[in-house]
Amino acid sequence: MAEFDFDVLVIGSGPGGYVAAIRAAQLGLRTACVESREALGGTCLNVGCIPSKALLHASELFEEAHNGTLAKFGVKTEGVSLDLSSMLAQKDEAVKGLTGGIAFLFKKNKVEWLKGHGRFTGANTVDVDGKSVTAKNIVIATGSSVTPLPGVEIDQKVVVDSTGALSLPKVPEHMVVIGGGVIGLELGSVWRRLGAKVTVVEFLDQILPGFDGEVRKETAKLFKKQGFDIKTSTKVTGVAVKGAKATVTIEPAAGGAAETIEADAVLVSIGRRPNTEGLGLEAIGLQTNNRGQIEIGHDFQTAVKGVYAIGDVVPGPMLAHKAEDEGVAVAEFIAGMTGIVNHDVIPSVVYTHPEIAGVGLTEEQAREKGAVKTGKFPMMANSRAKAISDTEGFVKVVADAETDRVLGVWMVSSVAGTMIAQAAQAMEFGATSEDIAYTCHAHPTHSEAFKEAAMAVQGKPIHM
Ligand code: FAD
Ligand code: NAD
Repeated sequence: MAEFDFDVLVIGSGPGGYVAAIRAAQLGLRTACVESREALGGTCLNVGCIPSKALLHASELFEEAHNGTLAKFGVKTEGVSLDLSSMLAQKDEAVKGLTGGIAFLFKKNKVEWLKGHGRFTGANTVDVDGKSVTAKNIVIATGSSVTPLPGVEIDQKVVVDSTGALSLPKVPEHMVVIGGGVIGLELGSVWRRLGAKVTVVEFLDQILPGFDGEVRKETAKLFKKQGFDIKTSTKVTGVAVKGAKATVTIEPAAGGAAETIEADAVLVSIGRRPNTEGLGLEAIGLQTNNRGQIEIGHDFQTAVKGVYAIGDVVPGPMLAHKAEDEGVAVAEFIAGMTGIVNHDVIPSVVYTHPEIAGVGLTEEQAREKGAVKTGKFPMMANSRAKAISDTEGFVKVVADAETDRVLGVWMVSSVAGTMIAQAAQAMEFGATSEDIAYTCHAHPTHSEAFKEAAMAVQGKPIHM
């Protein structure tokens, strides 16, 4: 009889966990995955990336039909109205299809789904709802959940987190979004497009922390033009709910006179924190760092031999594709191969309109490290964007002043989320801005703006 029930036991079936489990099984390891949710796929598939993108797409279609954008192209629509329950049902269908797809992939690859909550009782033993399971290697992929705001109670009716904001039964008149980060702007966009007035309260002096400075400035202008009321350098000090209404009290972040805002929906989106509570880390002597994350080495192994961790529960950006790549790499390490994730080249995308994307260093970060050259090209001068009246935004390339190696790329454009893949690939191959400038790009495409921005680094853009 084998010494352990499994070679690999993964706790959590989000993009990190399910990918790790499938890759481990592909490599011939006996693998199981513990998941306490009703459906596989974690935050991303159930209440994150997928449902939010379904609603962003649907709400954009509605807005284009409703606000005259389609009419401008000669597509006349009359009596456009919103059927919110159909819109929400389509989103639920998308989620069901994709989470069911993971169950299919588990069966296909012979990954066993152990339904229930996993808790360590030893370095090789996990209790799953009362049943003890042993494994030679255990991967913690328990993800993250919403960071609560002290004094603000989430009731998922009037005061919601991102999960509640994906299923509001009616369009709010006034939604106050606490936190001008990715979730606030994406889900704020959904409800604004469907008719809500949206006020964003951001503690810092700018929205979108972590993004390039010029991108933050430009997108704040664009969101304001769309009708967002953005209050930066402002903090929420309390939310009082009475019936279906909330009174949100705000103050300047630096202190000062308080004001109140009346709202019928409040979205708390001030970040996410790693899921380690109830995991039994104390049973294996594993401690979290001061941000609640599990520290790992280059091989994703924690301080406890044979126990690995990946995804939102470890340091680094909380992104699905980063978790997925770590899932592949950890399985390969466990199988005796050299799994690799280049954490310097993880793209990041905000799926608003226009989309906002970046990879590598911001201009500010790059300048801190040494001399840089930058090249910028406005979408206004891109022929495809002009042809379809889609001219908001720009592409910026940041390169090392001496070697010309590309250090970062930042984009604001309706298709930035798709275009950024090319930038990531170029950086992964160590491209210089000249390499990109001399790569033939199809015409007319938005991607030509990337080539022109690279040419601008050399001081030689053609169309500007
Ligand atoms: P998770 O996806 O959080 O999965 C962890 C799983 O582990 C969960 O299913 C949980 O139930 C389970 N679990 C936890 N503890 C236990 C336990 N003890 N026993 C059993 N099961 C357990 N990222 C992007 O890259 N692109 C996007 O467009 C995007 N959109 C998002 C939109 C929203 C609204 C949100 C909230 C997040 C979004 N993200 C997006 C972030 C993305 O969802 C996460 O980075 C990603 O899901 C992290 O994957 P993970 O595998 O680490 O954890
Ligand atoms: P975030 O870190 O992107 O933004 C949180 C914002 O809230 C920040 O701007 C922060 O300054 C602000 N804030 C913090 N405390 C505050 C307070 N008390 N009052 C007012 N503002 C406050 O976090 P998020 O938007 O909650 O998203 C969580 C995670 O989910 C992110 O790490 C993100 O990577 C991931 N996510 C990614 C995508 C995507 O890739 N498209 C989409 C959604 C979520």
